[in-house]
Order: sequence, then C-alpha cells, then structure tokens
Amino acid sequence: MTQKTERKPVFWIGANWKMTKTRSEAEAYLSALLGAYRRSAESNLRLFVAPPYTLLAQARAHLAGSDVILAAQDVHHLDYGSATGSISPPMLTDQGVSLVILGHSERRASKLDDDESVGRKVKSALEHQLTALICVGENKNERDDVNAEICLRRQIKGALSLITNEKLRDEAQKRLLFAYEPVWAIGDGATPAEPDYVAKRHQLIKNLTREYLGVFSPCLYGGSVNFNNCHHFARHELINGLLIGRASWDASALGAIIERIRASSCSEQS
Ligand code: PEP
Repeated sequence: MTQKTERKPVFWIGANWKMTKTRSEAEAYLSALLGAYRRSAESNLRLFVAPPYTLLAQARAHLAGSDVILAAQDVHHLDYGSATGSISPPMLTDQGVSLVILGHSERRASKLDDDESVGRKVKSALEHQLTALICVGENKNERDDVNAEICLRRQIKGALSLITNEKLRDEAQKRLLFAYEPVWAIGDGATPAEPDYVAKRHQLIKNLTREYLGVFSPCLYGGSVNFNNCHHFARHELINGLLIGRASWDASALGAIIERIRASSCSEQS
C-alpha cells in the first residue's frame, strides 16, 4: 500500500528592496542569491524579489531560468497615458513581472495611495494577470482588537471595491495575496509583532476575504522579520509567508532566512 504524503500549502518569501541598490549592487545581490537559493521541484516555498523599477530589466535577465519570481513595488491603474513618473501594468508584464505589491504603508503614509487608489490598482493588476499582493495593517493608534478590525475591514473593502463581476472575482480568488503589515512593526526602530498577535489578525483578514470573495486568501506577514524571528512566524499555519524589507537587502542574510524557514515546519524540505 502506498502512503500518501500530504502536500504543504505554499509558503511565500518576498524581498522588498524598497529604494535601495544600484545596478552593480543588484548584480552582486542576485548572483549571491541564486548561488544560495535552489528550490527543489517539491518545495512549497515561493520566493519573489521586488526591485525598484530601474532594476527590473536587469533582474529579469539575471533571474531567467530560475524559480525566483520577479515583482514590482507598485503600479499605476491605467494602461498608458499622461501620468508622469508612473509605470503601467502592461509595462510591468512586458518586463517579466508577475506579482505587484500594492498599498504599502510607506506609500499610504506619503499620500501616494489610499483605499480608493489601491482598489483601482487591484482591479487593473488582475485584469493584466498580475498577482496582486495587497498590504494592509493598522497604525499604532489602532493597535487593539476593535480599532484594528475597523482599519483592516476598511482597507480590504477598499481594495476589493471594484471586483464587481464574475470574471474579476475568479481572478481575485486565484491571484490575490494579502500582506498583514502593522505600520508600527515596520522600519527602523520598530518592534516585530508577536506571532500569536499576527495569527489573530490573519484570521480576521482571511474571514474578511471569505466574506467578500468567497475564499480564504493567503496572507503574509511583514514587519521587522529577521533571522532571529522568521521561523516563529513560519511555523504558524495561518501565516502563509513573509514580506521582508531591511533584512532582505543583503543576499546572504536573506539566504540564511530562507534556510531557517526551510528547516522549520512550514517546508517539505525539513
Ligand atoms: C516592509 O516594508 O514591507 C517591511 C516588511 O519592512 P521591514 O521588514 O524593514 O520592517
């Protein structure tokens, strides 16, 4: 009798480069990363890197033939036109990008995005077969069950507000990811959220996506993830991945995080 091994759900690891790296730095980073990262066919890990726009073409060439997914940090909702400084969905897909981060708190804080603009971008990304990773999270004044729920409900409702027909709903069920990134846990001087706190919010986010889309969408955690805490998040069944900023800017540091996650219970390679 053959014994069936249960397949573990996909676990995402995303490197958000933010506004870092020149071409030579990107070259060195990607060489080191590909040297360290080999995904076996049966692995449940999915790794993506999100360089700034200026490095997408170079990263695409470097990552060709690898399993590393190329992501972008934002996109405009229009296909083309008078939008100085912006990049459209067809421009991203033309560069080999298949995933886009939307509604990051650093953009929301700078008034570059709000719930409405994120909603427009989500619709457009899905129409262009991009996987949309929607960032949501409460700020430090909303850090309690009631206010965090109000905030997350508002952000998710806004992000999904233009998913108004069956086709888009189908796409959203297949291609939407969320990143729970409490604003107070991100950036210099911040403290990461506790895994149990994160899991509680993830349950809420998943319940909300079930309510709006009919599916429990995968949800990543982001906010001061590093080598010392990554495995605590990765072990939690409600946490479907990690979006990593500062600790991913060095390829060997990211490689060490990946290895630690592989060795933890989320991965089939343990
Ligand atoms: C982020 O900005 O998406 C992030 C998770 O940042 P950091 O890991 O640096 O807190």
